[in-house]
Amino acid sequence: MRYSNCFVPTLRDVPADAEVISHQLLLRAGYIRRVTSGVYDYLPLALRVLRRIEAIIREEMERAGAQELLMPMVQPTELWEKSGRLAKYGPELLRFEDRHAHQSCLGPTHEEVICDLMSRELRSYKQLPLNLYQIQNKFRDEIRPRFGLMRGREFVMKDAYSFHADDESLMAEYRNMFDTYTRIFDRLGLRFRPVEADTGSIGGSDSHEFHVLADSGEDVIAHCESCEYAANVEKAISLRSAPVAASAAVAELETPGLTSVEEVAEFAGVDAAQLLKTLVYRVSGGAFDGAVVAACVRGDDQLQTVKLIHALDADAVEMASDAEIESIGGVTGFVGPIGLNAPLYIDSGLEHALDLVAGANRRDLHLTGVDVGRDISGAQLVDLRETRAGDGCPRCGGTIALSRGIEVGQVFALGRRYTEPMEVVFQNQQGKREVATMGCYGIGVSRLMAAVVEQCHDDGGIAWPDVLAPFPVILVSMGKSDAVLEASGEIYKQLQTAGIDVLWDERNERPGVKFKDAELIGIPLQIVIGDRGLKEGVAEFGRRGSDRREVAIADVVAMAT
Ligand code: ATP
Ligand code: MG
Ligand code: MG
Ligand code: MG
Repeated sequence: MRYSNCFVPTLRDVPADAEVISHQLLLRAGYIRRVTSGVYDYLPLALRVLRRIEAIIREEMERAGAQELLMPMVQPTELWEKSGRLAKYGPELLRFEDRHAHQSCLGPTHEEVICDLMSRELRSYKQLPLNLYQIQNKFRDEIRPRFGLMRGREFVMKDAYSFHADDESLMAEYRNMFDTYTRIFDRLGLRFRPVEADTGSIGGSDSHEFHVLADSGEDVIAHCESCEYAANVEKAISLRSAPVAASAAVAELETPGLTSVEEVAEFAGVDAAQLLKTLVYRVSGGAFDGAVVAACVRGDDQLQTVKLIHALDADAVEMASDAEIESIGGVTGFVGPIGLNAPLYIDSGLEHALDLVAGANRRDLHLTGVDVGRDISGAQLVDLRETRAGDGCPRCGGTIALSRGIEVGQVFALGRRYTEPMEVVFQNQQGKREVATMGCYGIGVSRLMAAVVEQCHDDGGIAWPDVLAPFPVILVSMGKSDAVLEASGEIYKQLQTAGIDVLWDERNERPGVKFKDAELIGIPLQIVIGDRGLKEGVAEFGRRGSDRREVAIADVVAMAT
């Protein structure tokens, strides 16, 4: 590509509203432009980088056995009603009505659409397992879009969905995707860390996030200095052992309080059976497999009352669907197990789920009759939510360190959270109908572009890794003599013939301007042709950011390949 034909609108100054370096550099180097809040144009250089990221993702996904498809961005809202997620997803879901008054929304994620497809197409266990993925624009009406491509409203995501006959197959694919993500982020040249994650509004049991390490990251991640343990702090909270102090305070209680589900339900004015299912669903993250202590918090935004119920019988409990959970409008939170090994966990957003912690299902370890506000102060509750550097590791007791991360991917073992309400069923080997189990796996493709820049830049501009650079090589013609242009034109042709994506800076500009631009947009390899060298049959050859050396013009093409 000739530079003079290339649309690269670079800027002299850093735009005032760009806070993080990736946002500043992508604007300055002519990669992106803002259309409206959280919505961007990807200019030609950005699109080249995006395509390279996508190519690596596609290669690794196909290698892992996944198949690409493309689903629509517009989704009928009915599907979200059916899955039970409509109310819960909140205003991030952009909804609208078409001319026939059909309610639609812009897809922030595609569990509903793919389950709808599978509910019609899946028949037999012979079709399973199956992993389908797409690379597509998502829309989330983020409350605070910021940092350019890092948190947009419209952004590019790779999302994959796998379907299985049983949970063993699901967990095998979960590990396969975990390894695939590791390979993808390795190939992109990133410093990253996989961490245990909360399952958030998506639901399910197991989840890991992949974080690119960067001070500008919006997430805080905890990792142990002695073992492999690493978790998003949102999640690490629920595993923290510090609440022993709170437990001790509670242990002094004399009031017996309410100890059965029925009593709590009556107190809270809700249906006992539904309450039980809700609590257990929430406490176990939708994958209940043991007895646990749970409690209910009723109120609007305020935590009002917490009552503990102990040692529930696992067999007696059915999972509540999300619709059922929604129907208990008054319950705005829950408390997890309190025990010697199990922390008190309080969540007022009805969003988070708890992991079962060792000891949580032992009858004699639990406290009853706890009343938050009376027995534990609000201040203590807030305190419990923060994991700090220097805390003990919940796995080995080692020291926890904190760092900042940019979430670039997440994998979820969803289980039957969506397949059940969406009726994704198949005939098993015995000819019986069974609900399929499911996983989902996302990568923030456009966010990755920003995350790479956060890690790969210097004072001169963006320092793309070779595999991502919009052009791996820039050929710079110094001066405007015919001889230089002719010789450069010849090398340009040879490079192209050799299959090298080269940017030829044949502009009538001063050398200083050309070098500054080459550094700013971040081309890794530079070949420079000037009058003086030409007379001796040499070109300058070097990597961005380091000194160039003279090489024979005849060797240049071979060296660039
Ligand atoms: P976040 O916690 O940053 O809001 P998320 O957990 O809501 O992200 P997921 O639902 O896990 O996001 O979506 C999969 C991936 O999509 C994320 O890991 C992230 O890389 C990317 N992503 C999510 N929201 C955005 C956004 N607003 N802009 C750009 N990329 C995003
Ligand atoms: Mg989000
Ligand atoms: Mg997240
Ligand atoms: Mg996530």
